[in-house]
Amino acid sequence: MQKGQISVQTENIFPIIKQFLYSDQEIFLRELISNAVDATSKLKTLSSKGVFKKEIGDTTIEIIVDKENNTLTIRDKGIGMTEQEVEKYLNQVAFSSAEDFVKKYKDENAIIGHFGLGFYSAFMVASKVEVHTKSYKKSKAVQWECEGDPEYAIGDSDKKGRGTDIILHISDDSKEYLGEARIQELLDKYCKFLPVEIKFGTKTETIYEGEGEEKESKEIEVDNIVNNPNPAWKKSPRSLKDEDYKKFYNELYPYSTPPLFWIHLNIDYPFNLTGILYFPKLKNSLESQKNKIQLYSNQVFVTDDVKEIVPEFLTLLHGVIDSPDIPLNVSRSYLQSDQNVKKIASYITKKVAEKLAQLFKKDREAFENKWNDLGVFVKYGMLSEEKFHEKAVKFALLKNVEGKHFTIEEYKEKIKDNQTDKHNKIVMLYSNNPVEHDSFVQSATNYGYDVLELDTVIDNHFMQHLEQKLGDVTFVRVDSDTVNNLVQKDEKQESVLSETEQEKVKVLFNTKINNPSVTVTMEALSPTDMPVLITKPEFMRRMQEMQSMQGFQMPNMGERYNLVVNTNHPLIAEKLVKMKKEEKKETFVEHLYSLALLNQGMLKGSKLTSFINNSIDFLK
Ligand code: ADP
Repeated sequence: MQKGQISVQTENIFPIIKQFLYSDQEIFLRELISNAVDATSKLKTLSSKGVFKKEIGDTTIEIIVDKENNTLTIRDKGIGMTEQEVEKYLNQVAFSSAEDFVKKYKDENAIIGHFGLGFYSAFMVASKVEVHTKSYKKSKAVQWECEGDPEYAIGDSDKKGRGTDIILHISDDSKEYLGEARIQELLDKYCKFLPVEIKFGTKTETIYEGEGEEKESKEIEVDNIVNNPNPAWKKSPRSLKDEDYKKFYNELYPYSTPPLFWIHLNIDYPFNLTGILYFPKLKNSLESQKNKIQLYSNQVFVTDDVKEIVPEFLTLLHGVIDSPDIPLNVSRSYLQSDQNVKKIASYITKKVAEKLAQLFKKDREAFENKWNDLGVFVKYGMLSEEKFHEKAVKFALLKNVEGKHFTIEEYKEKIKDNQTDKHNKIVMLYSNNPVEHDSFVQSATNYGYDVLELDTVIDNHFMQHLEQKLGDVTFVRVDSDTVNNLVQKDEKQESVLSETEQEKVKVLFNTKINNPSVTVTMEALSPTDMPVLITKPEFMRRMQEMQSMQGFQMPNMGERYNLVVNTNHPLIAEKLVKMKKEEKKETFVEHLYSLALLNQGMLKGSKLTSFINNSIDFLK
């Protein structure tokens, strides 16, 4: 063999390549297999153009582990290289691209997808790399060898067939890459959908022969093909049925709950992008559902961290995006300002909004049935993307406690006559827990009001958002005030008690309760309303909840609430004011207070026990 020197322009890059981010060493396999796929695709192109006239034959790429000789081989049946091409591509092109990469890496540090290192990434795990290659052109086979320094050797090879074998002599500290399980894991991660079949050893399959009684099972050895070269997102949407989409979802996320629906993306101008995005069944927990979109570049897996490419709320979706137009070997901060990436993000947002609008239009009932799972996603999107809000405000739904769904406009129309307050705002009443708020919901309903159910983690923010955006609505929780004050109008009921009588009752309650977080007020409600009621003012409560959701705890903010005494209720207006004995009044007030607490689910511990004991005594 003949010896040569790779022309080194800068310092020796090999030590740097060897040290290249330890955790990312494994990408050498993706780089080498990508080259093998490219070489195969090039041959197919030449054949389709008539430049290559012979039969292409089988093109399966093989990955071979040889533990005895400590080698890992990547074998393709692609175009191969002539001697001049080896000189040119491996000693010059591949080397200078590796050199470039190392320079960039040193400057930028965070390179997304880690593409670009190419052929020389082999030296991260190999102490020696041997290449045996035979071009599709009429020429002899060539052997090239390099031990991870600028020296190389080139000579004849006895390789018979067309294509290239890359033989890695695995170095002592990279022995893991001689393990079958480890290689299989890497193939699953990076090569699952590469467009050329990749074979890694064989596997046993059970087949059945004969009929009925005669039927026998038999184990046979078959090629272990690790990839699906024809994934669903590359096919035409027209050729796919619902089952195909569901099957592909299962291929991506085995053993998961089936998706609600999906969008097939397919665009070639002004950028190239294909993919399928799935709407998963969203539970109330958002985090566990995030970051499941996989990014591919021409079917090569790049990353499942797509934060910079799709808007935050879309990271709740699952599936695949494939685009050769997303620049891969650049830093994350650069990516965010890239015009193509911005266009891609807004295109995906638009598509998702259109799909939802279309589902809503086409089959409203089905859309309503899915709203439980979909609502969080839509609300999240409206909160975070102006463009999405504009579209979604037409199909976002509100559900009332009877389980009926309305668009925002429909709902405004429904309640505006009865629920507009003195400031001309439409008051949307809601409960986050109709079971716990039952008595409040009932009195509101009896009053002729409609009550919504808004109970997801995101609803406080969503209400705030709608109040700001729409301007003419306000959200009020059913327990935030007495029923006649939920929608504030100018009418006031007359109290049957005089001012002095009211003041006396107030003093009684204040002395008994004796708690600075409780504000006692006197209200003239209907005699059929509750005698005493605990209300939690909307604004304070909502702020507190939103802050605690973001992890802020307000210091010394025990729960504050109002205790409203209904001065028109017979128990107050007739019974309490007429009582003589101080002791009796106190027990009476205590009991009423306990009932109010009980009604809000706030009577707990020893207070609850003594309330029950008192009630039992009373029945004796
Ligand atoms: P890149 O693939 O980005 O061009 P590489 O360093 O991976 O950079 O490879 C350099 C060149 O070497 C390729 O462009 C290709 O011409 C040639 N090459 C590498 N691997 C193969 C292969 N398996 N078959 C044929 N040519 C190859």
